[in-house]
Amino acid sequence: MNELLTLTAAELGKRIAARQISSEEVTRAHLDRIDDVDGDIRAFLLVNHDGALDTARRIDARIADGEYLGPLAGVPLAVKDLFCAKGLATTASSRMLEGWVPPYDSTIVTRCKDAGMVILGKTNLDEFAMGSSTETSAFGPTHNPWDLERVPGGSGGGSAASLASFQAPLALGTDTGGSIRQPGAVTGTVGIKPTYGSTSRYGVIAMASSLDTPGPCARTVLDAALLHEAIAGHDAMDQTTIDQPTPTVVEAARQADVTGMRVGVVTELAGDGYDPQVEARFHEAVEMLTDAGAEVVEVSCPNFDLALPAYYLIQPAEVSSNLARYDAMRYGLRINDDGEHSAEQVMRATRGAGFGAEAKRRIMLGTYALSAGYYDAYYGSAQKVRTLIQRDFEKAWQTCDVLVSPATPTTAFRLGERTADPMAMYRSDLCTIPANMAGGPAGSFPIGLSGADGMPVGMQVMAPVMADDRVYRVGAALERLLNEKWGAPLLAKVPELRGER
Ligand code: GLN
Repeated sequence: MNELLTLTAAELGKRIAARQISSEEVTRAHLDRIDDVDGDIRAFLLVNHDGALDTARRIDARIADGEYLGPLAGVPLAVKDLFCAKGLATTASSRMLEGWVPPYDSTIVTRCKDAGMVILGKTNLDEFAMGSSTETSAFGPTHNPWDLERVPGGSGGGSAASLASFQAPLALGTDTGGSIRQPGAVTGTVGIKPTYGSTSRYGVIAMASSLDTPGPCARTVLDAALLHEAIAGHDAMDQTTIDQPTPTVVEAARQADVTGMRVGVVTELAGDGYDPQVEARFHEAVEMLTDAGAEVVEVSCPNFDLALPAYYLIQPAEVSSNLARYDAMRYGLRINDDGEHSAEQVMRATRGAGFGAEAKRRIMLGTYALSAGYYDAYYGSAQKVRTLIQRDFEKAWQTCDVLVSPATPTTAFRLGERTADPMAMYRSDLCTIPANMAGGPAGSFPIGLSGADGMPVGMQVMAPVMADDRVYRVGAALERLLNEKWGAPLLAKVPELRGER
């Protein structure tokens, strides 16, 4: 494997800025890598071959002219296919949007372009980001680079798998209930859900607007922090964005120090339904934090047990309104548009054919939860539970600086294992959903491999709203401690690098 592929984004950026290597050769190495392995992994829905090389050459020319474009200039980036990028087909992994080419960039894509990053392509996801395995994608699932028979998590499985298979050094994700963190955990990569409202949703295909949070995916904590600072911050195009300075996450990632930090272990995110190997790695990691000077306490958040059922009322309710815009008139697919059929018949046929089974399930659940007679009983109650979860967090912050838990209850499951059982699929996000309900930042960090199936395990770190730097401080400390213990990053153990594939 070309050694440029294993460098961190920070290192690539440094060498490109110093003109030790060119963005063009880095980009070419990644495009070749995609050609070589993505037939097996299927992380990408679209590869931006010519566009990427074009951008890379332009960045090289500007650097040669003496311009400094920032720490990530010239570094390749994989973009979840939920972000609009001008001129590149955007599908949200749905037949409904097949062939649609956005005429504009999402704010985050604009910021990445301004920072000189090179868009390699668009990555696979569950349809409209609903799922935990990429198996609801209309274009087929992505495979986990650690074991091709297993899922890469979801919805952002394509972004996570592109990192773990060294097809991209950085990727963009969105997290509504765990879609950055859960794929990160099961692929041995780093995934951060920033504070809700600290990253712009403008130009990101809407799923559940009160929860959707774009964020960085990377192989190292520092790389995630560099991407985080490049994309975060107030945006006049998204009124929910917070008009405050972005927490200094790069500095926190460099600090990597937990001395004196109060770390709360959440009582409720353990026990029944948790893989004993996941719990074992988690407890080892907590012990390492203690040894490194953190003060560890146990914290009860009793309403976290209600997070999943409340999420599956609020999220589908918002989905049912957001997906109403796919009416066969404005975007993408249009069926029976022959002048013989009424508008209603065209809409009915298009929505029937364009949405997959999971999207339909959520639209029906959500429409029911919002219906006149049931609104208070379902949607209203779920909103009250959301407040209770926020209160659990507020109470926890009186005694600790961060909360930790396993990032997922199990390691990556086998393709097909949970597709027939929506409840089993939904339970994949048991640990990640509380942070979405409350809005605070949370990250998933690799902490080892399961002794049973050899698959990666992740730890989740949660912090108060706009204290994203704390997530990075703990994550970077874990990364440092574990690299010392293993003598190499966890991803050095991915089968490809051991020469097993
Ligand atoms: N798996 C969760 C769901 O299906 C979360 C998805 C997400 O965060 N986009 O809704």
